[in-house]
Amino acid sequence: MSIAENVAAVKAGIRAAAVAAGRDPASVQLVAATKMNDADRVRQAIAAGVDICGENRVQEMLEKNRQGAYEGAPLHFIGHLQKNKVKQVVGLASLIHGADSRELLEVISRTALNRGLVQDVLLEVNIGEEASKSGFRPEEIPGVLEYVSTLPGLRVRGLMAIPPICAFPEENRPFFCRMEKLFVDNGEKKYDNVSMDFLSMGMSGDYTEAVACGANLVRVGTAIFGARDYSK
Ligand SMILES: *Cc1c(COP(=O)(O)O)cnc(C)c1O
Repeated sequence: MSIAENVAAVKAGIRAAAVAAGRDPASVQLVAATKMNDADRVRQAIAAGVDICGENRVQEMLEKNRQGAYEGAPLHFIGHLQKNKVKQVVGLASLIHGADSRELLEVISRTALNRGLVQDVLLEVNIGEEASKSGFRPEEIPGVLEYVSTLPGLRVRGLMAIPPICAFPEENRPFFCRMEKLFVDNGEKKYDNVSMDFLSMGMSGDYTEAVACGANLVRVGTAIFGARDYSK
């Protein structure tokens, strides 16, 4: 299957899941998780109609950006962001999905302010409450939103999560549904610098489940580009 055929199939899957859930399919955006795919393959995905490109690694993103890989699509940073790499990402990525600590939020805000920018971010939620994963605990989110209202260099645009690895996609449904409730509940109260617009969840194996539970950004790699070759 070509990248174009895969993109068409994923978009059809999103559309079907949205319609089944009584949602507007146009409200869901497809983020191509482009890690380990070269500029040419990224361009093919954009030509095939992915809405956004999402990169995980700063060096790789800078390299492909120099090659003009992302022309024609917005660029998001979806990986784990280290504080010492923030200055390379702020202003280049229009949305940072995985803001996972108060320290990181503070550095992003300060860096953006220095550049005269306001950086959009999503708060990462450790929805499975796994020791091995980063992200805020669900009950921490209201306090973090209060904190964000003191950081004028950024704007929180929503939440993102990577649920535990599971054998069957349906097993993630409770996590996705818990995220939807967290997203809705925390969107009710108004905070400065917060606009709860985006719920980023769902990957190749489970994006239809995520869409059923309200995801409006799905991050899909393998189902578009095929399996990544980690041996290289
Ligand atoms: C790689 C990656 C994805 C996509 O994973 P696939 O299973 O290949 O679709 C989504 N989100 C993040 C944060 C990733 O690193």
